[in-house]
Amino acid sequence: MSLGEFDLIERYFLRTHGQGPQRALVGNGDDCAVIAPAPGMQIALSTDTLVEGRHFLSTVDPAKLGHKALAVNLSDLAACGARPLGFTLALTLPRADEAWLAGFSQGLLALADAHDCELIGGDTTAGPLTIGITVLGEVPAGGALLRSGAQVGDELWVSGLPGEARLALEAFRGTLAPPLSADSFEATRHRMECPTPRVALGLALRGLATSAIDVSDGLLGDLRHVLRKSRVGARIDAQALPLSPWLAERSTEQQLECILAGGDDYELVFTTPPGRADEVHAISQALALPLTRIGQIEPEPGLRLHRGGQALAQTWASFDHFQA
Ligand code: ADP
Ligand code: MG
Repeated sequence: MSLGEFDLIERYFLRTHGQGPQRALVGNGDDCAVIAPAPGMQIALSTDTLVEGRHFLSTVDPAKLGHKALAVNLSDLAACGARPLGFTLALTLPRADEAWLAGFSQGLLALADAHDCELIGGDTTAGPLTIGITVLGEVPAGGALLRSGAQVGDELWVSGLPGEARLALEAFRGTLAPPLSADSFEATRHRMECPTPRVALGLALRGLATSAIDVSDGLLGDLRHVLRKSRVGARIDAQALPLSPWLAERSTEQQLECILAGGDDYELVFTTPPGRADEVHAISQALALPLTRIGQIEPEPGLRLHRGGQALAQTWASFDHFQA
């Protein structure tokens, strides 16, 4: 007999006492979850949906999918400098496949526990495979890092080694010439399938960054959101871009394409006031995470890309679900 809706929820998504964080006043299993933010804190909230065939292939390892579904949501909290508290899971499943559910919940809950983020509720329905997650986090009152805070003169930074996820995607599509070596493929594929949300970085940037965004649709495209919201422009030095060892052996054109237009790395792009680079370097050391200054904020609207004093044309489009 196949698993019923409530057995499914209980078996794979309800935690018993001592199994992961329990900070909600009322957690999973009632009509609503009830949580109380700590005094002086505000709630930061974000939703992201993953749809089969659009965000992932049906063949992806369910544990990796569980990880990624939560990771992309935690990444939004990171971009706001919020500390994760809890999340809800809206799961639409074509069938109750227990092997799939076991893998999915294991990958999902392992990442949740690592971030002390409690699964406080959800909804389970039958239909085409879709995973909707809403995360809640807390930020000091008025202290959320926003897209609108960049100031003229600020320094522009990126975390990690962006572009690896895009490189893997191109390899998957078979569009890379020459193809990736097996080693490079495995390493970059891991970055695409199991991104690391930069939660600790977001927390460390509280009170330092003037603006931040996580890169999901492409570095340039996502940076443009910051520029528009902040009513400023930016200049990026192509030679300053951090280069993943997997990208180092590709052509300059492929490097720029992957770094500047690739999404799915879930790195943070952020701005800091001038003269505070030492603080950023100290965070980089403490987190063992590269943080690279790639440009600066300027008064003229728009994005200017330079290499060795020469302007580069920008032909990269960022991802848009409703445009070809
Ligand atoms: P209701 O009908 O009151 O909305 P449901 O029957 O949908 O409640 O869900 C029962 C309980 O199980 C609720 O507490 C809900 O939050 C939780 N729940 C349902 N689906 C999931 C899921 N996929 N993951 C975690 N909790 C879930
Ligand atoms: Mg319901």
